[in-house]
Amino acid sequence: MTRMAKPNITLVQGDITEQDVDAVVNAANSSLLGGGGVDGAIHRKGGPEILAECRVLRRSPEYGKGLPTGQAVATTAGWLPATWVIHTVGPVWSRSEDRSGLLASCYRESLRVADGLGARSVAFPAVSTGVYGWPLDDGARIALETVRQADTEVEEVRFVLFDDRSYAAFAS
Ligand code: ADP
Repeated sequence: MTRMAKPNITLVQGDITEQDVDAVVNAANSSLLGGGGVDGAIHRKGGPEILAECRVLRRSPEYGKGLPTGQAVATTAGWLPATWVIHTVGPVWSRSEDRSGLLASCYRESLRVADGLGARSVAFPAVSTGVYGWPLDDGARIALETVRQADTEVEEVRFVLFDDRSYAAFAS
């Protein structure tokens, strides 16, 4: 039995679909049926099997109405080097409502799902900071704080930042 501990955190600039880790996290939308950004890249490079599994999930009573914001669910990873994709739905940024608890929940729940799978290395994108409009510095702070505080069997959490700005936000 592995002891729960704090994971090592690494930052890389690059493409999450190329990461050789046990699980990559997808910034999905609640339909689980694909979208742009990370989601589009994962389905394009991972092939049709991932979407087929997502469709099966959508037919289940649990996810019939979609995956709720802040929650996470896994599929296999098709043609990606990873073994699993953990799909999580980030909150859309709101000026009038504090949704940071939901963003933290994406990281926490993804690690919980990773623990259930036995994944030891997990790559995350900067959830919600693309189309969902979350300010990058705040998104990076929530991501890092949440993962630093997590008790998990995951040994490496790798944040994969797509561009210079995202990398700088996580590195500062
Ligand atoms: P969301 O809808 O949660 O905002 P996006 O996919 O639009 O999700 O963006 C989340 C972050 O992922 C953004 O910082 C975006 O630049 C980044 N991103 C887009 N494509 C990739 C990729 N292939 N690998 C890693 N990060 C990516």
